[in-house]
Amino acid sequence: MRHTGPWLRAAEGAMLLGPDGVPAPTVFAEMSALAASTGSVNLGQGFPDEDGPAEVLDAAVQAIRDGVNQYPPGRGTADLRLAIAEHQRHWYGLEVDPDQEVLVTAGATEALAATLLALVEPGDEVITFEPFYDAYGALIRLAGATHVTVPLTAPDFLPDESTLRAAFSDRTRAVLVNTPHNPTGRVLPTEVLRIVVELAERHDAVIITDEVYEHLTFDTALAPHVPVATLPGARERTVTVSSAGKTFSTTGWKIGWLTAPPALVIAITTVKQYLTFVNGAPFQPAVAVGLRLPDTVFAGIAADLAAKHDVLAAGLTAAGFGVHRPDGGYFVIADTAPLGYEDARPFCLELPHTAGVVGVPVSAFVRPDHAAGYRSLVRFAFCKRRSVLEDAAARLATLSGA
Ligand code: PMP
Ligand code: GLN
Repeated sequence: MRHTGPWLRAAEGAMLLGPDGVPAPTVFAEMSALAASTGSVNLGQGFPDEDGPAEVLDAAVQAIRDGVNQYPPGRGTADLRLAIAEHQRHWYGLEVDPDQEVLVTAGATEALAATLLALVEPGDEVITFEPFYDAYGALIRLAGATHVTVPLTAPDFLPDESTLRAAFSDRTRAVLVNTPHNPTGRVLPTEVLRIVVELAERHDAVIITDEVYEHLTFDTALAPHVPVATLPGARERTVTVSSAGKTFSTTGWKIGWLTAPPALVIAITTVKQYLTFVNGAPFQPAVAVGLRLPDTVFAGIAADLAAKHDVLAAGLTAAGFGVHRPDGGYFVIADTAPLGYEDARPFCLELPHTAGVVGVPVSAFVRPDHAAGYRSLVRFAFCKRRSVLEDAAARLATLSGA
């Protein structure tokens, strides 16, 4: 039914409705539906097709059996908040007060939503790099703010320093950083992050940093993950967001969290308590188990993902795509231009029929009027079983007649 009432004005303003007046599906939902209806290999939506550490899964089963099935405390269970604080100290040397500086959320998505709704006023500007994860654009608009973007352009997907500096002004209320970055896979270099901190300080802006792929980096010597909050001057103005979904292959559990100074946590909790209030009681102790697993388990998860990347990247290269190597995360960007295509969106709509594979056009992560530099690019997910990636590679090989 076409939406005609006044109810979704904010959504309409936020361009979240399709041309027919009904909610437009996200590109991930659209592409997963296309994969299902065509029987294609789904390298579109980023979710693993294998379970993560057994200790984490067992702890959730045990918690359900032990009766941990009612509302958890508003800020998250005390033990999970402690595990998050221990994790920040162990991995990054960050001291975080588990009672005042940690908030457990319904995935990173709720952490981002509550943060933007709490800290940003209509008319404020929020800066992100572009391409950006789709929820950023939607949430910034739902908060009534203006979205200012700084391009990350191929082949290296790094920002131009003067463009980054020019994006900031005294209207800037927040800068939302994502490293390792979805969709490009870039770990943002520390020099770039330092400039962001310098500019945020100068313009008194909050830094929101989405680090959901923090443990999924492929070369810790060449491109180590540096949490923004560890940089001088950052901690007191930074909201760090993460999630269990990517690291432990539990995207359906929707357990995320944020760490921030106490005053920011209070403001964000005020909003969060009226979004979901709380979520995932039996999953919270399980994620605490995950966060306390030995370093070797985290290294193994990253190494396994790097090997999966290599299988898919080799397949894409053999099929004739231009391939941009990611530093981390679930995704690789492939250029269709060497195969003779100009626009990846029709290519992605055709691909399930021609090769039985689904990917997401990178144009879905940029504003329509900024699509020019990204038009021929596709994002493929490699967080899948090796056999599935090999199957996808074999299917893609037919494109070049190889
Ligand atoms: N941020 C980024 C960069 C993501 O890629 C995703 C999901 N893949 C999210 C946030 C959402 O995380 P969650 O499922 O924990 O809400
Ligand atoms: N974050 C996942 C991705 O980038 C998708 C999550 C979703 O479907 N909203 O593919």
